[in-house]
Amino acid sequence: MTHIPFSKRSGFRTLRLSGLMALLLVLSSFSVKAQFDSTEVAVIKQLYTAALSSQQGYKWLKELTDAGPRLTGSPQATEAVKRFALIAEKHGFKTRLQRVKVPVWTRGEQETAYFMAGLENTPMNICALGGSIATPENGLEAEVVEITNFNQLDLLDLKGKIAFFNIPMNPAFISTFSAYGGAVKQRWAGAIEASKRGAIGVICRSLSSSINPYPHTGSMTYRGAEVKIPSAAISTLDAENLSAALKAEKVKVNFKMQCAWQDSAYSYNLIAELPGTEKPEEIIVIGGHIDSWDLGTGAHDDGAGCMHALEAAYLLKQQNLLPKRTLRVVFFMNEEFGLSGAREYAEQAEKANEKHVLAIESDAGGFSPRGISISAEDETLEQIKNLRELLEPYGIHQFGKGGGGADINQIKGENVVKIGLRPDSQRYFEIHHSALDVLDQVNAREMELGSGTLAAVIYILDKYDWVGY
Ligand SMILES: [Zn+2]
Repeated sequence: MTHIPFSKRSGFRTLRLSGLMALLLVLSSFSVKAQFDSTEVAVIKQLYTAALSSQQGYKWLKELTDAGPRLTGSPQATEAVKRFALIAEKHGFKTRLQRVKVPVWTRGEQETAYFMAGLENTPMNICALGGSIATPENGLEAEVVEITNFNQLDLLDLKGKIAFFNIPMNPAFISTFSAYGGAVKQRWAGAIEASKRGAIGVICRSLSSSINPYPHTGSMTYRGAEVKIPSAAISTLDAENLSAALKAEKVKVNFKMQCAWQDSAYSYNLIAELPGTEKPEEIIVIGGHIDSWDLGTGAHDDGAGCMHALEAAYLLKQQNLLPKRTLRVVFFMNEEFGLSGAREYAEQAEKANEKHVLAIESDAGGFSPRGISISAEDETLEQIKNLRELLEPYGIHQFGKGGGGADINQIKGENVVKIGLRPDSQRYFEIHHSALDVLDQVNAREMELGSGTLAAVIYILDKYDWVGY
């Protein structure tokens, strides 16, 4: 400890200071003792050590991503749920599949696009946004109008044009999730706003925090629109090039896509339980979403989150630290296309009168965890913040008020404490919803720290009853 050298010094002033420091140390160590004892410090260490040594979650993630993308409604998505039901069962979980109705949208052949400036055609990397209609067979071609701010919309003539939303994610935000939130409207509602003003198609700048050649997909909506127009995203690099060309002259864009809505289908949520040792009727749920976008293999979004959940529960079981309450791992189906899995789960839970006291979600990637966001009553929130003392050695220092996640937010009941894992967000939106979201982008140790953190959070919150009621 760093205070020891000071206490060896002589002199009145130093003695007084060291006396004060000693008092502070006694007080602070007393408050640590009042809160957590050395057993807990050791247990937390044990959980992280097991995660980092066995890397079971990362191995599972490899198995998941090796099988390809898991677009909602695709056979691969359902296959993944079934495969992990068997894996969970083999590892001692009580497992079941919960049927969920899901929308089915298919991308068709790889999309193409180019812009025409002067005599030159410049190809662009483009992808259809999830839920878009196709272009005509030979592509959609028209003059393009750039929009850099939603306030400009009424000042621009979009009739018969292709609207080009070019609104970058704000680089000044430290949390890239905030930057994403500030720019996502162009993707989600760009088609509605543009078609209202006569546009015949939309291309938007990919929601990427860096300039790169990869287009990023994501969901869009036609809700409330009288006319549906094809809607796509181009890479940030192409958005920069197109914008530069538009400064010099009029530019036409041609893009071609074959995406289409199909009849809806049935798939499943995976539910895997470890019954509680003392209060089995109280439920702690931990989960992520098993569906992914189709351009990569959903390694970060949200393969890592699902494996965090399964591994955290498995670590507790393996280390003989089973919670008092029932610990339920859920892989939610269809987060990306409207949360039907999470809604079904919440509805069934309500019908069965289940008592959820704590819900935890990991859906922000498999990067080094920095903290958790907490949604709870003030008193419980303050209690949970005490975790900082135990988890700071593992780099976990952010304990703020905030939402748990889109899937667990569907769970009803005012007294459910909701928690979201908050990994470092700096690189997440470079890969999010793009072809870059593959296993190579996940560092095994960073991911395992997430599993260790969630296991530790569950262990302490369950033991100290820092949950809802
Ligand atoms: Zn996600």
